[in-house]
Amino acid sequence: MSGLLGAAEIREIAERLDVRPTKKLGQNFVVDANTCRRIVKAADLTDQDVALEIGPGLGSLTLAMLEVAKSVVAIEIDNRLAGELSNTAVRHGFDANKLTVITQDAMNIETLPIDPTVLIANLPYNVSVPVLLRFLEKFPTLTGGVVMVQSEVADRLIAKPGSKVYGSPSVKANWWADLTSAGSVGRSIFWPVPNVDSSLVKFIRHKAVGDEPLRKKTFAIIDAAFAQRRKMLRAALSDLCGGSAAASELITAAGIDPTVRGEALELTDFIKIAITLSK
Ligand code: SAM
Repeated sequence: MSGLLGAAEIREIAERLDVRPTKKLGQNFVVDANTCRRIVKAADLTDQDVALEIGPGLGSLTLAMLEVAKSVVAIEIDNRLAGELSNTAVRHGFDANKLTVITQDAMNIETLPIDPTVLIANLPYNVSVPVLLRFLEKFPTLTGGVVMVQSEVADRLIAKPGSKVYGSPSVKANWWADLTSAGSVGRSIFWPVPNVDSSLVKFIRHKAVGDEPLRKKTFAIIDAAFAQRRKMLRAALSDLCGGSAAASELITAAGIDPTVRGEALELTDFIKIAITLSK
């Protein structure tokens, strides 16, 4: 059998494995081969790439990645799905040696057997942001990729200062990469059909903007600023700085107006505050 997975085969595999998709694991499987090829194309995957997939499920996207990549590493928490993935790939004519399946919670992954270069995933919705941030942090060989997430989350990830949905995910992801929209995806291409819309986010890693101690400090400031996003910066950062007056002084010393809100600041502004705080 060649080609990608179709809707009938996806249901047949799920039935055979006795998999009933659960909300808890965000199991909405893509049943449309064109969408899978579109995602792989948007990620600019090449035959030189080691592609990483988080949550391969029944393998729809995995096969589309195997069509192009040098090899694929797939991390799946559900052992019935992980156990079947290589069989599905082989049945569709792919070389099983090109595929490494890791049965684990992606949130616990510290190392991988091969350095991945591109991340492509239809992310489980309940952990999409932490998973994306974690892999950007832990795997610097990832130069970019495309992730499918809930549209609301996509909007937040690509938001710029001043936007209502700009927040901690937008700034933190921007520490590692430039993120842009790669379009939306209709609900009908999933089984089961989800009750939320989905969109694609493309990211390209940029040059490092600071070392690990500076990142940690910057992220702590970002967390504090957005935990109380209606407050002026000097109030939001008062606990971190030992009082509102000290916060005001420090923010001013960083060249930023302490009466603005966190949602007005760019990543570079948060970095300036972190550097001043470290002095
Ligand atoms: N990639 C497949 C597709 O597009 O059809 C499935 C995507 S489905 C939205 C999310 C997948 O992630 C499911 O297979 C689910 O079992 C898996 N998953 C959920 N939480 C996970 C976690 N913490 N670590 C790894 N995989 C997870």
